[in-house]
Amino acid sequence: MTIIGIDLGTTNSLVSYWSENGSQLIPNALGKLLTPSVVSLDEDGKVLVGEIAKERMITHPEFSTSVFKRYMGTKKKIQLGATTYLPEELSALVIRSLKEDAEHYLGQSLHEAVISVPAYFSDAQKKATKRAGELAGLKIERLISEPTAAAISYGLHLNEAECKFLVFDLGGGTFDVSILELFDNVMEVRAVAGDNYLGGEDFTETLISMFLKHHSLIAADLDRKTQALIRKQAEQAKQAFCESKKVTMSVSKDDASLTFDISLDEYETATKPIFQKLKVPIERALHDAKLKIKDLDAILLVGGATKLPLIRSFVSRLFGQLAYAHVSPDEAVAIGAGVQAALKGKHAMLKEVFLTDVCPYTLGTSISIRKAQGFHESGHFLPIIERNTTIPVSKVDRLYTIYDNQKVINVDILQGEARLAKDNIFLGELNISVPPKPAGTEAIDIRFTYDINGLLEAEVIVISTGLKKTLVIEKDPGAMTPEEIAQSIAHLAQLKIHPRDQQENRLLIARGERLFEENIGSLRHEIGQLLRSFEDLLDQQHAEQITAERDRIKAIFNSIDAQGGL
Ligand code: ADP
Ligand code: MG
Repeated sequence: MTIIGIDLGTTNSLVSYWSENGSQLIPNALGKLLTPSVVSLDEDGKVLVGEIAKERMITHPEFSTSVFKRYMGTKKKIQLGATTYLPEELSALVIRSLKEDAEHYLGQSLHEAVISVPAYFSDAQKKATKRAGELAGLKIERLISEPTAAAISYGLHLNEAECKFLVFDLGGGTFDVSILELFDNVMEVRAVAGDNYLGGEDFTETLISMFLKHHSLIAADLDRKTQALIRKQAEQAKQAFCESKKVTMSVSKDDASLTFDISLDEYETATKPIFQKLKVPIERALHDAKLKIKDLDAILLVGGATKLPLIRSFVSRLFGQLAYAHVSPDEAVAIGAGVQAALKGKHAMLKEVFLTDVCPYTLGTSISIRKAQGFHESGHFLPIIERNTTIPVSKVDRLYTIYDNQKVINVDILQGEARLAKDNIFLGELNISVPPKPAGTEAIDIRFTYDINGLLEAEVIVISTGLKKTLVIEKDPGAMTPEEIAQSIAHLAQLKIHPRDQQENRLLIARGERLFEENIGSLRHEIGQLLRSFEDLLDQQHAEQITAERDRIKAIFNSIDAQGGL
């Protein structure tokens, strides 16, 4: 039974499987390897996922949504038309679409997947991801952290020697830094850090701001069409910097053509603040891993935005070495997930690698501390398992009574980095009775155990009496009850997916609708006519004519898009 690997990205998602040629990516119904993580509902309530949904973000924003991975593990309700969806339900729709692409490609039905998740994902976020897979009809027994998957795709797990490396993952809207160590076949995550609001889109935004400033324009004064055109030109210009040192943005507005030439030097100056921000998580990860830049044996580039030469040169300058980039950065995680899927399926061809993980946040309890004046002040945080400790891990700390005849010791279980207990997240509490004795003579041991699946168990033992209490932390702010899961499955099952053999046609119409909105006058009229005649042809169901006409209209749309609407 084939197990698939899934990279469920904030911006783009991919699916892979293990073949005799190694881990391989599977194209979607449009023949593309990257499926935008965007979901939209159409007029008859059918679900559209990927590129079509991305077009509809512009024409039907109230029926379309993106970047929901940011809210995984929360109960945030995302509105699509008249209904609201949880982040894991929207993710389930993306996974369902990838699953269907894979089933179509492999010619078999699929029941199990390995999904990659950011290394910093909390227990609640991992559970939500697992649930998303299950809502899509897949068994998810294993999640793999994204940097580990990337390292595997670069073949680092085959290294004989010990090796320490940093994974620099710059996606569309997120930046993740992970430091991993490979030793005796064990790949250990040493530290993770990141910025959830920093990514490739910031490099597009910079070009938009430069363009607006050059033409003394204010974004809020512009109509939607012009805003969309500027964004599209900025995205194209950004990608053009991969090949040239000078690029041009050109946007038509009120019968005039606004152009703007930018040199790589100017772009570099304008993006300086972004590079300053990129340094922060890198420094924190190195600090937590107790490593210096010179200790790193390799730097791996992951995420579509690392295709930018500006980022590559920033990385080489900062680390004093060339980064690994022989795997396409936006495909690396999915390829690694495919390898992990094969390992899960006990594929004989592969050498076993053991993967370990870290706990992303510090776990501890609250204590009273003795002030110089002699009294106790409560509410101070005592870290027990520090952030970035390799899991599974078990740590113990001893606490003493602070009052004479104290009868109960209260143990809070907290997550966070703040000095004061109240500023950290409360996960649960345990109260345990102790024999009333003079202050400081009775003690308890608090043991925190964090297992490989990120489940935390707290145990307190009274030293003198041996009395023991345990608590498994399942407090999960985003958890769904079994009834909610059943409801969600029923709800998602009702939603029909747009037929895959119609996707090329549907994309053409979605694109035409966007162009219709973006343009005016005779061009708009022409787009309207093309759409009408294409819809008539679809009704007549002449497959050959449809294909020929689709190609012809696609070429026209391409030229309209390329000319910025002129
Ligand atoms: P995520 O991990 O967030 O799902 P990806 O790894 O797919 O995202 O990265 C998406 C980002 O990569 C987008 O901001 C996109 O503009 C950027 N990107 C993709 N290709 C290029 C390129 N050739 N040059 C510059 N940026 C690119
Ligand atoms: Mg990614």
